[in-house]
Amino acid sequence: MTTERPLPPGLHPDTLAVRVGIERSQYGEHSEALYLTSCFVQPDAETSARRFAMQEEGYTYTRTSNPSVTAFERRLAVLEGAESAIGTASGMSAILLLGMGLLRSGDHVVCSQSCFGSTIKLFGTDFAKFGVETSFVSQTDTAEWKAALRPNTRLLFAETPTNPLTEVCDIAALAALAHDAGALLVVDNCFATPVLQKPLALGADLIIHSGTKFLDGQGRVMAGAICGAARHVDGIFAPLIRSAGMVLSPFNAWVVHKGMETLGIRVAAQSANALEIARWLEQHPAVERVYYPGLPSHPQHRLAMAQQSGVGGSVIAFNVKGDDATQARARAFHVIDSTRVCSIATNLGDVRTLLSHPASTSHGRLSEAQRQAAGVVQGMIRLSVGLEHVPDIEADLARGLDSCGGVA
Ligand SMILES: *Cc1c(COP(=O)(O)O)cnc(C)c1O
Repeated sequence: MTTERPLPPGLHPDTLAVRVGIERSQYGEHSEALYLTSCFVQPDAETSARRFAMQEEGYTYTRTSNPSVTAFERRLAVLEGAESAIGTASGMSAILLLGMGLLRSGDHVVCSQSCFGSTIKLFGTDFAKFGVETSFVSQTDTAEWKAALRPNTRLLFAETPTNPLTEVCDIAALAALAHDAGALLVVDNCFATPVLQKPLALGADLIIHSGTKFLDGQGRVMAGAICGAARHVDGIFAPLIRSAGMVLSPFNAWVVHKGMETLGIRVAAQSANALEIARWLEQHPAVERVYYPGLPSHPQHRLAMAQQSGVGGSVIAFNVKGDDATQARARAFHVIDSTRVCSIATNLGDVRTLLSHPASTSHGRLSEAQRQAAGVVQGMIRLSVGLEHVPDIEADLARGLDSCGGVA
C-alpha cells in the first residue's frame, strides 16, 4: 500500500462522502479499486492461522471481509456518524442479520404498522416462527408505542418517513421510550438518508439501510447495511455474518460506494424537484390529496421539518379523485399509463422518476381492509422524483390528470 496523507479532523460530510474509503493499492489508483475476489492469498501458514483466528488484521475470505466492502462500510459509517457499519446483500438481509443477532426466543419487538411490507412480514411471520413476538403499532402515536412495551421488549423498530404515505415518527421520543424500557431503537433510514436525517444523533441505537435505493441512486444493484456502535456491529453482527453469509458482494459494494459520492447533491436536487411537483399536484383539480412531508398540509409537517433538516425528501404519494374505488383505480391507471417520461417501476431513490400504484404492487398482498387501514387507496399513485427538468415531469403527469374526466 502507498503511504497516505491522513485526512485532517473536522471535515464536513460532503467532503467525507467523496474522500473516506480505504488505502490505495501500490498503484496509487485515484478511483477506488474493485477487489473482485472471493479469497486472499496468504504469505505463509502461520499468518493465515492468525488471521483466521482474528488475532491479526488481514483479509482471508470475502464472506468475512473484503476491501471493497470495507470501503463502503467506512464511508456509510462516517455519513451516519456511526462508530461502525456492516454491509449486507440487501436491505432485508440487514434486518434479518439484526434480528438474528439481537433476538432470541421469548423476546418481544414493537414495530410500526406502516413499515415496509417485507419488514412487517419478516417480523410478524418469519421471526415469529422462532418464538419472537412483534406488536405492530401506529406510526405517529407515541402513546401506542409506550402502551405496547413489555418487560421482554428488546427492540423498537421504526421507519421514517414511511412508504407510501410519508408518515413521520418522532425518533427522539421513541429513543427515550426504548431506553427507559431497557430496549434498543432501530431506525430504517432508507427514505431520508443521512443527508437529511441522522437517527443516531437523535438517540437511535442502530440504523438499517437499503443501499438499493438512494445510496446507489441509479437503480443498479442490491445492497444493505446496519450502522451503530462497534459493540453491536463488530461485536455481534460481524462474527454472525461470517456464519450466516448474507454478505454484500464486492462489486455491489463498489457501485454503492461510488454512488455515495453524489448522495448529497442528488438528495438535495431531487427533494427540491419533489417539493415543486408536490405543490403543483396539490392545486391540480383531478387530485384529491397529496402526501408529502415538505407541504404544510402534511399532518406531521413541523416534526418532519425539524427532524429532516427542513427538507421533505423525494417521495410523494397522491390520490386521484374518483366517485368510488373502481373509478379512482381506473383513473390512477390512466394517469400512470399516460406518462411517457416517468418509469412505471416499484423501486425508489433513482435519478429517474418512478411511478407506481401501491394498492396493486407493493401493498397488493394486503387485504382490502388492511389497505384501507394503511390509507393505501385504489386512487393512490406513488412518485419517486428524480433529476429530470420539473416542467417535463409535470407535463408527463398532466397528460393523464387533465384527461381523467373521460375515464368512467
Ligand atoms: C426497499 C426497502 C427495504 C428493503 O431493501 P432491499 O434492498 O430491497 O432488500 C427496506 N426498507 C425500506 C424503507 C425500503 O424502502
